[in-house]
Amino acid sequence: MSEDDTTAVPTDEELETVAELSKRRGFFFPASRAYGGVAGFYTYGPEGAALKRNIEDAWRDRFVTQEGHMEISAPDVMPEPVFEASGHLDGFDDMIIECPECGTSHRADHVVEDATPVEEAESLPIPEVEALIEEYDLDCPVCGESLIDVPVEEFNLMFETNIGPGTSSPGYLRPETAQGIFVEFPQLKQYARNQLPFGVAQVGTAWRNEISPRRALVRVREFTQAELEHFIDPETDEPPLERVADVELTLYPADEQEAEDGDYLTMTVREAVEENVVASDWVAYYLGLARDWYERVGVDMDRFRYRQHLSGELAHYAADCWDAEAELGGDWVEITGFAYRSDYDLSKHGQYSDEEFTLFKQYDEPKTVERATVDPDMSVLGPEFGGDAGAVQDALYDLVERDPGAFEDDTVEVEVDGEPCTVDTADVNFTREEVTESGEHITPHVVEPSFGIGRIVYTVLTHAYDRDVVDGEERAYLGLPAEVAPRAVGVFPLMDKDGLGERAREVETDLRQAGLAVFYDDSGNIGRRYRRQDEVGTPYCVTVDYDTLEDDTVTVRERDSTEQARVAVEELPATLTALRTGSTDIADL
Ligand code: AMP
Repeated sequence: MSEDDTTAVPTDEELETVAELSKRRGFFFPASRAYGGVAGFYTYGPEGAALKRNIEDAWRDRFVTQEGHMEISAPDVMPEPVFEASGHLDGFDDMIIECPECGTSHRADHVVEDATPVEEAESLPIPEVEALIEEYDLDCPVCGESLIDVPVEEFNLMFETNIGPGTSSPGYLRPETAQGIFVEFPQLKQYARNQLPFGVAQVGTAWRNEISPRRALVRVREFTQAELEHFIDPETDEPPLERVADVELTLYPADEQEAEDGDYLTMTVREAVEENVVASDWVAYYLGLARDWYERVGVDMDRFRYRQHLSGELAHYAADCWDAEAELGGDWVEITGFAYRSDYDLSKHGQYSDEEFTLFKQYDEPKTVERATVDPDMSVLGPEFGGDAGAVQDALYDLVERDPGAFEDDTVEVEVDGEPCTVDTADVNFTREEVTESGEHITPHVVEPSFGIGRIVYTVLTHAYDRDVVDGEERAYLGLPAEVAPRAVGVFPLMDKDGLGERAREVETDLRQAGLAVFYDDSGNIGRRYRRQDEVGTPYCVTVDYDTLEDDTVTVRERDSTEQARVAVEELPATLTALRTGSTDIADL
């Protein structure tokens, strides 16, 4: 029996302990060690790969299957124009500072955050970060050389590659899975039968050439994201808030972060919306949904909060952003971003590509509207503007849609390549007419929850790690929810003799055939075998003993309580399934 269930792991040791366990027991470890390793890349071992897959499956279940969304799988490499349109080529930068003495590159905002009381330095402009380095007299964290007057520069985080031989077709490894969804919108909207709202998810690899990878799986260069892009009509679509209205959230709004005595607000989703703490109902919906999901996969809700972005952190297109944050080793780490991205992404791809990133919205009743049109006389514009005539014509089409009033005067002005061009209104055949329209083309808005699976795996492992005393002996165990634990059950023969091994192997086969991930172990004493499974979070263990040979029952032992019950072998698959899903309890067996 568990005699002491206090957490015996001090915060400052927690991450080291988890890293040691992870390597020793095969959750994750630095990759390519045989060749010296390279920072920011990790291999998930057998236990970690299973835990990660189970978390991804739980995500799919909640955010795709239960919500009725679609899931796609797009390529990791995308051509340069995608990232010109998305803004990543120009703006997906971190601040870099290179030590003039030892040559180590650092993230300038991290140098500031680590050595000063300043938080969220990422949101500050470069000159302010340089000023802080001077104000606090900051040194290189590696060699101690002064960093005053060392320039801070932008560093683009995308990994560049060449598509095919030569360099004529640059490509990039996607820095987020989202672009693979946005770019395919013209196709995806057809699968959604041109009806809003609809959601498209993707679970896949994202790549960022981080300046200084750190804290194990927290900041790596290759990681898995699970992203959902929910396309909505901002005028008419509303989230099914009633489904999550009573979910209680721990919120840390921007004004509380900025106040001297700022604190968390604890309120339901309904209250957060009514009191306008969360501005977007859609974002609030996902905060509620996700909060219960995090708990389901094993994030400790006492070490969890939603933090609103400060105004400097907000992407320019995003109206309201919140991060889900988990406390790890005493620090808060963003594990998911929730953003209302407006029509930014689809509009950009609409502008930069030849495809339509809009959707036809049918009116309930046809509407009669006034429509202004132009039909420029090219026999006049041609001689007047020469090679620019086509561009002038396009600019006129554009203008009449945006601002028909501009055609009221004798001349109208448009801009081509930054140069003003004046056209006589008489030459453009401007008309206004009444037309009956059955609908209009709209650019949907996007709500995006963006989960980092690696950070969630790391959080779940860290929060699950616990120590207690069982039968006078200290044990370490992972209190993982059964749904995500790498293995469903351990099967042990009490001893590998007198036919116990053979019987245990039969039990193992039955359980595997029932779809359960089994770990078979016949080495060492039974207590050690329990400890080994406790340490990787296996929720149940089954022991075949001499009674099994007599009455065909086995001992089932639960990890956290270490309670035991006898169960008939033929009922074992059903009983274990019921225990795993929580529809029965070991104490009731
Ligand atoms: P972002 O697009 O930066 O908001 O990232 C979305 C999510 O991806 C974050 O909440 C993290 O969970 C995850 N993420 C971002 N960068 C990294 C990284 N370098 N290593 C691991 N996970 C990351």
